[in-house]
Amino acid sequence: MTLFGLAGITNTNAFASENDVKWDEEWDVLVVGSGFAGSAAICQALEDGAKTLMIDKMPVLGGNSAINGGAIAVVNSSFQKDRGIKDSYELYVKDILKAGLGLNRMDLVEVIAKNGNSAYEWTLQKGVYYRNALGQFGGHSVPRTIWPEINSGGKITIPLQEFAMRNGGTIRTRVILDDFIKDENGKIIGAKVRENYDFNFDPMKDESENKTGVVKYYKVNGGIVMATGGFSYDIKFRQEIDPAITPDLDCTNHYGATAQALKVMMKNNAKTVDLKWIQLGPWGSPDEKGFGIAPVFAIPAFSYGIMVDARTGKRFVNELADRKIRSDAILKMHKNPDGTITHPVVICDSVGAKGTTKANVYRGIHKNVIKVFDTLKELADFYHIPYDGLKKSVDDYTRYARARKDEEFGKPFFEFKGVVPDLTKPPFYAWRALPKVHHTMGGVKIDTEARVYDNDDNVIEGLFAAGEAVGGPHGASRLGSCAIPDCLVFGRIAGRNAANLAKKDKEC
Ligand SMILES: Cc1cc2nc3c(=O)[nH]c(=O)nc-3n(C[C@H](O)[C@H](O)[C@H](O)COP(=O)(O)OP(=O)(O)OC[C@H]3O[C@@H](n4cnc5c(N)ncnc54)[C@H](O)[C@@H]3O)c2cc1C
Repeated sequence: MTLFGLAGITNTNAFASENDVKWDEEWDVLVVGSGFAGSAAICQALEDGAKTLMIDKMPVLGGNSAINGGAIAVVNSSFQKDRGIKDSYELYVKDILKAGLGLNRMDLVEVIAKNGNSAYEWTLQKGVYYRNALGQFGGHSVPRTIWPEINSGGKITIPLQEFAMRNGGTIRTRVILDDFIKDENGKIIGAKVRENYDFNFDPMKDESENKTGVVKYYKVNGGIVMATGGFSYDIKFRQEIDPAITPDLDCTNHYGATAQALKVMMKNNAKTVDLKWIQLGPWGSPDEKGFGIAPVFAIPAFSYGIMVDARTGKRFVNELADRKIRSDAILKMHKNPDGTITHPVVICDSVGAKGTTKANVYRGIHKNVIKVFDTLKELADFYHIPYDGLKKSVDDYTRYARARKDEEFGKPFFEFKGVVPDLTKPPFYAWRALPKVHHTMGGVKIDTEARVYDNDDNVIEGLFAAGEAVGGPHGASRLGSCAIPDCLVFGRIAGRNAANLAKKDKEC
């Protein structure tokens, strides 16, 4: 019987002792993965005096974090205070739990809620710049999302990595962690890696079959931080976990988001939680591959506009509900009895479109994802939506927006530049929606100190994990813009604790 019925992963307590390996190098802390969690971990470990190496299996740094939208939800930021927005940790936790269907690890959520704003302020000291903007993502009760100077996680990871390099850290690409080396008590004391690894993208294959690179052994005196991200692009693995996540579903992630590192941890007896929860982002578009531009335009479009079933012109969900509710609603309605698919259409007017930058709108139009129409009739004809149905939905919605009360789906209305946008000011902007695999909520079990647990619920000495590699904080569905604070907060905790172990080791 394989662990959790997943093919190819057998649980082993076998260890290679210090005498079994010839060490090639020695470090205090090894950080595996160079996204938000890994970059935060290396910076923190360096600040705490540890000789630290960060490796990434890919030829470029940053994983999903580097291609991410840069949206960070934190409580009581200066941006909220400047705008008089009242928020609280309790409300933040409540929103996360609601999206996660209450399956979240409360202790981990509280740590994120309480430390998110200080993690953001810590990135300021590392040279990250933020623009003066505050947004509200679906599922959040108040505006609390902020962005770096442009909508890109790379604007956070790169300054952190530069800080690490300036402060004595070592960073290497194309080095894959293959296994841990343990002492006779099961404590992790090092890593087996392959340098010059050649990642070869085939999402239908198990990445563990790729044998490229040169084997090396790194001795680690403190801890190893697994900041190895999620497995959304591992089509084979994700389907073993949830057969409903079929290979034809597109994915927003970078190609390296496979389950290889998770399997290494499972093989070494790490306990996993919530693997079955795989999130679809409701704002993908069938008219482009990957993440694309639609999710960026979706922020104002879902806030100020409507999403309709193209067969009727009717709304069918609160456009600001959390991702799971919206994705489930789309997938439920979009398949026709004959197997064909009708994609819902998201519509906002010219005022709503001003909720994002002109550059984003132009990019969407240029890529043929966003379409612009002078009249609703032209829009209805283009997407084959019954005009009467659409007109009624638009009129009803405009009435709700003006009364600030959505009588059908309870969507909250927010002011934009002093007005609550409705759907009366042409031109009208529209795009077709299709959920895409976006985030894996499951991963290894940690505690609030980022220590990884084994299947007997004991701490695996010397092993830490942070970010999307971890299961628990987000329950059944992650709330938008809450991954970055999770990664930064727990990346710092993991880096600090891994460094502390090295100090203890030196004191002994
Ligand atoms: C397109 C997109 C947009 C997003 N936008 C937002 C947003 O605006 N706000 C938000 O909060 N969240 C967002 N998310 C989610 C968020 O980006 C991720 O959850 C987050 O980046 C995960 O960070 P991480 O550090 O855990 O992992 P990653 O950033 O994925 O980094 C993991 C790294 O580990 C490396 N790795 C894996 N295994 C090994 C191994 N064995 N050896 C060596 N290296 C290894 C990988 O190559 C990768 O570089 C977005 C996600 C995507 C895909």
